[in-house]
Parts: sequence; C-alpha cells; structure tokens
Amino acid sequence: MSELLEFPINYEKDLKVLVERIEMIQNTFGLSKHDYTKISSVLLDIAYNMLNVGYKGKMNVRVKLVALKKISLSIDTIIFDIDQFNFSRFISQNSSWIQSFGCTLYSQYINSTATIYCTFPELHIFRLINNETIIQLSEILEYSHEESLLNKSRDQLIEEILARSAKLNEAVDLITQIKEKNKEIEKLNEIQIQQNIQLRLSMEELKKADQMKTSFLANMSHELRTPLNSIIGFSELLEDGTLGQLDEDQLDVIHYILQSGRHLLELINQILDISKIEAGQMELHYESINISLLLDEVHTHVSPLLLSKTIELNKTCTYMESTFFDPIRIKQVLINLLSNAIKFSNEHSRIELICDRFNEGDYIKFSVVDYGIGIKDENLEEIFKEFKQVDESHTRAFQGTGLGLSLCKKLVELHDGKIWVESIYGEGSIFSFILPIINGE
Ligand code: ADP
Repeated sequence: MSELLEFPINYEKDLKVLVERIEMIQNTFGLSKHDYTKISSVLLDIAYNMLNVGYKGKMNVRVKLVALKKISLSIDTIIFDIDQFNFSRFISQNSSWIQSFGCTLYSQYINSTATIYCTFPELHIFRLINNETIIQLSEILEYSHEESLLNKSRDQLIEEILARSAKLNEAVDLITQIKEKNKEIEKLNEIQIQQNIQLRLSMEELKKADQMKTSFLANMSHELRTPLNSIIGFSELLEDGTLGQLDEDQLDVIHYILQSGRHLLELINQILDISKIEAGQMELHYESINISLLLDEVHTHVSPLLLSKTIELNKTCTYMESTFFDPIRIKQVLINLLSNAIKFSNEHSRIELICDRFNEGDYIKFSVVDYGIGIKDENLEEIFKEFKQVDESHTRAFQGTGLGLSLCKKLVELHDGKIWVESIYGEGSIFSFILPIINGE
C-alpha cells in the first residue's frame, strides 16, 4: 500500500488543488469515467464539509495494486480540534450517499481528533502499471504539492509586498509633504531673521534718536533756562519798582512779560523732567517724611493762587506715621494737582487735600478734591498723556502746558505708585495717587 498523497485542507483554494491531484491520479491509472466521478465526488465532499464547518485537517490518499488491472483506494480524513463539532451528525449526513457508491465508511474519534476512513471497492484500471509507477506518481504529486505550497507562500509574499509598498508609498508621500512644509518653514525663518535684523537696526536707530532727543532737550532746556531766569528776574525788579516807578501801561507790559516768562520756565522745567525720567536719569532721593509738615509746605506754596481766587483749602491727614519717598518730587506732584484744582475751580470755591492709608494696605493715599468744572468720562485717561488738554476754550482761559499730569504720572510711577482720577463733569474731580509705605532706613 503506498501513500499517494498527504494533503492539508486549510483554505478553499486547497479544494481546487485537490481536484488537480485527482485528475493526475485518473490520468496515471486510466480509471473509468464512472470511477473518476465517484472518487472526486467523495474526496471533494468530505474535504468541503471539513472546511465548511471551519475545522482544519488533512487528507491521506492511499493506493494499492491488487491485480494487474485492479487497484484498491482508501482515504483517511483527519479532522483536528473538533471539540465543539457535532461529529456524528457530520458522519450521518455524509455516510448514506457515500455508501451508495459502494464505499465503506467508518470513523474513529480519539481525544480532539477524528478520523474518517473511506475505502472504495476495487477499481478497474486501463493502463499497465506497477508499484514503481505508483511510487513515481506519489513523488510527482508530492512535488506539485510542494510547488503549490511555494506558490501559496509566493502569493502571500506578493500580497504582503504590495500592502507594504502601498504603506511605503504613503510614507514617501508624507515625507515629501513634510519636506515641503520644512522648506516653507525655512523660508519663513529666513524672512523672520531678516525682519529681526531690520527690527534690531530700527530699534538701535530709535534708541540713538531717543538719546539724541534727550540730550538735545536737556541741553536746550539748560540753555533756555539761564536767559529766561534773567528775563524773569529783571522783570520782577521792574515790576516791584526797585529800578524806578513805572506807569500803568508799562506795568501791564511787564506783567505780561513776567507771566509768559514764568509759563515758559514751567514748560521748560517739565520738559526737562520728563526727558530725564524717560532717559532713566532721574534719581529719587528717599527721605523719612513727616506727612503733616509736607502738606503744610505744599499749602504755603499754593497760597498765592488760593488767595487770587479766594479759594479755601481744607487739609485732612489721618496717616500719622512716617514713610519714605522723595519729598521734592512728591511735593511737585501735589502742587501740580492743587494748581490744577485751583485753576479749574470757580472763585470762592473749596478744595480738599486728604491723606490716609489706602484700603488698609501697605500704601499711603493722597487725594485732591475740587468742586470745579469736572472732566468728561471719555477724557479721564487722555489727560495723563503728554500735551493733552481736553477743552481748548478752558485751556485758553486757564492757560497750561498739557504736561503737568503726564509728569505727575511718571513721578508717581517712579515711586512704584499709581495715579488716577474720578470726576463728574460739571461737578468736580478727585485726583488720587498712592505710594507704597516704606518703613525703616
Ligand atoms: P495743564 O498744564 O494744561 O493743566 P495738565 O497735564 O496738568 O496740563 O492737565 C491736562 C488737562 O487735564 C488740563 O488741560 C485740563 O483739561 C484737565 N484737568 C486737569 N486737572 C483738572 C481739574 N482739576 N479739573 C478739571 N480738569 C482738569
């Protein structure tokens, strides 16, 4: 008995290869058409049923030369791993018609493996063959089986290669896109570098221009102040009659000269201060301050202005401890705020100067309250900007430089403080600023 074929039944395409094998057996032995149909039907049916229920297995085809023109043929079909499989139903479904071909069919079921044995009645052959021929056929079948396995793995390999090359193509696409994006980024970087260079150059130029402006202003202010002080000094001498009595018209002229001179001096002083602060050259000289004394000094300073409009100044100071700040600069701020309050108040009016602790915090707060013309909401921020005067008709009437509040803001901020205004148009304004309380040396 020689084993012609050991054949795995794992995939549907294995059935097609099985048909080819049966054809080869048929050609070698020269079986009758009837026998060929019988063998192929039985083999295919068992193999198909195996696949159909999803259990893999293998098939062994055995052949034996019984007489000169007769062979015996049997098939073992081994089904693996059939625990869940209704094996007896499978056998009963197949057995009746297979037996109708005159085949004997029986089965064995050990552990998880089932074997179906199918033996055909002796078959007539029309070719002259011997055992040698059967061995040769077995080798051919074995060879073509291996070839088919190789084909299968080749097919699988090709499929895998195709799938991988598709992925590779996607990756190449992605890399190309990334490269393009990188190029764009490089271009943008270059533009940015150029812009940065331009920016740095512009900033350097700006810095130079700013330094030039500052030194120009400082020099010019100095150059202007010296002759201006002479003009004011000599005009005062003329006004108070030290150099002889003047008539009324001459006094009027001298009065205008003095007024314009003082205005110009104030403007120059403020410009000089602002440019000093902007150039970072303004140094603060911190001293321990007695607040009541400071308020008295400020009061004294603005007394002539108060008198000229018969305005009363009420001072309230609830902050009794001492603190540190630059008294000259803070006095400058207070005088500025008080002068504005007087300037924008009616005659016989009242002004309040209040000093207390801010929000129980570590700040001291100064407020100047007036009951004058007030400021419209939309101008509350504007007035702290340089040369901002909100109402031209008032400004003309009251005079001013438009620099006072801007300088106040800068001086307060230089002390790490904050300044703001609250106002009701037509009713009055409250200008407040806070300074951090500094104890000790
Ligand atoms: P100026 O020298 O013109 O007073 P400031 O910077 O001190 O310049 O003030 C800017 C503007 O703010 C003033 O022209 C005025 O319009 C407004 N202002 C300042 N203080 C008051 C105030 N107490 N009441 C009403 N308006 C004020």
